[in-house]
Amino acid sequence: MNALDSTHDPKRRAWVTSAHAPDSDFPIQNLPLGVFSREGGTPRGGVAIGDHVLDLRAALEAGLISGEAAEAAAEPSLNRLMAMGRAASRALRAAVSELLAEGNAAASQADAILVPMQAARMQLPCAIANFSDFMASRDHSWRLGARRDPVAPLPPAFDSLPVAYHSRASSVRVSGEPVVRPNGQWKRKDGVYFGPTEALDYELELAVWLAGENALGVPVPMSQAPERLFGYGLLNDWSARDVQRWEMPPLGPFLAKSLSTSVSPWIVTAEAMIPFEVPAAPRAEGVAPPLPYFDSDWNRTRGGLAIAMEVWLLTRRMRVEGSGPARLTATDFATMAWTPAQMVTHHASNGCNLLPGDLLGSGTCSGPTDEARACMAEIILTGPIELPNGETRRFLEDGDEVIFRGRAHAPGAVSIGFGECRAEILPAPPWPAG
Ligand code: CA
Repeated sequence: MNALDSTHDPKRRAWVTSAHAPDSDFPIQNLPLGVFSREGGTPRGGVAIGDHVLDLRAALEAGLISGEAAEAAAEPSLNRLMAMGRAASRALRAAVSELLAEGNAAASQADAILVPMQAARMQLPCAIANFSDFMASRDHSWRLGARRDPVAPLPPAFDSLPVAYHSRASSVRVSGEPVVRPNGQWKRKDGVYFGPTEALDYELELAVWLAGENALGVPVPMSQAPERLFGYGLLNDWSARDVQRWEMPPLGPFLAKSLSTSVSPWIVTAEAMIPFEVPAAPRAEGVAPPLPYFDSDWNRTRGGLAIAMEVWLLTRRMRVEGSGPARLTATDFATMAWTPAQMVTHHASNGCNLLPGDLLGSGTCSGPTDEARACMAEIILTGPIELPNGETRRFLEDGDEVIFRGRAHAPGAVSIGFGECRAEILPAPPWPAG
């Protein structure tokens, strides 16, 4: 398991020439999975390649791929493929890589099996069974915690386990769908208030999609955790900070988070990420290692992921002026204090059953530098955000569009991208009369 093979070969090229544009997120070494439909068509599984989508249903019908994994991946949701485990996604990846490789006769059927990306309407990649959100960044936890308690900013358990809460699966939406500013309750100087949030924020996170299933009562040790990692995407854990501060004690976040969560449509598989596995980040100075059940050789040497992640803001005025978006955050997932495998082992350590299509959020991926602050609440600790066109922000305004991008990088490997996770903020709905 977890070995490099011909699908990762930097010299392999696709017959889809756009896959090799230097800035393409989707070279043949990536092959992320998603679910799409064409105008008037039925949803089906696809693979991003350059500026096109490989229609897996059409490829099956043309006899270019076959087998149980390909059948499952062509369905209108990826749950069945996820249930089949990592061996199935490895087999599928090998077949698709072969099909798209330069010299394959499938190129003559390009019109039948490729869909231009702009004609593909992306959907959620699977039915999301559950959504849990972690807090893996020490820098994020420290900066925000220090406002409350400068002496002991971190939650007491932070260095002992990956802290998390159960979030809401029903309000997860695919990139491109707008986010409506929520109404909520919080405490102002003049008393308890209800109305549209005045502190809507983004949180840049990694989405971790799970494969396989453990029965209730059966934990997932670190030796088995990597097999449960189906793949990754970008996740925006929209947060209403005013509501969050008021409602959190003592049971944790609730309506401040369930308002909406955006995910990028393409799942970059754990197989595609093998060249970008890095050692788990070193423990902070003076911090003891976690208990042994969080440790494995694999995690120490390969549990982290080198992914450069960015946040861009496009305001309504920037759109009118025709200027590009402004970058607010540049960070790297490799600095996280807890790895995806440790999140899986922790989540199932009480015997909780994790299901195919379960979604984990990594928590805000802030790093140590100022530019690596991955939400507005952290950035404005040092003053309002000043945008290149003279606008300023503390939190998001109606008409603002937030765009996440991510790119895995490693020496000697072809860099692969995650596509975008973007959404525009729409005004709050009027509170219903009566
Ligand atoms: Ca979060």
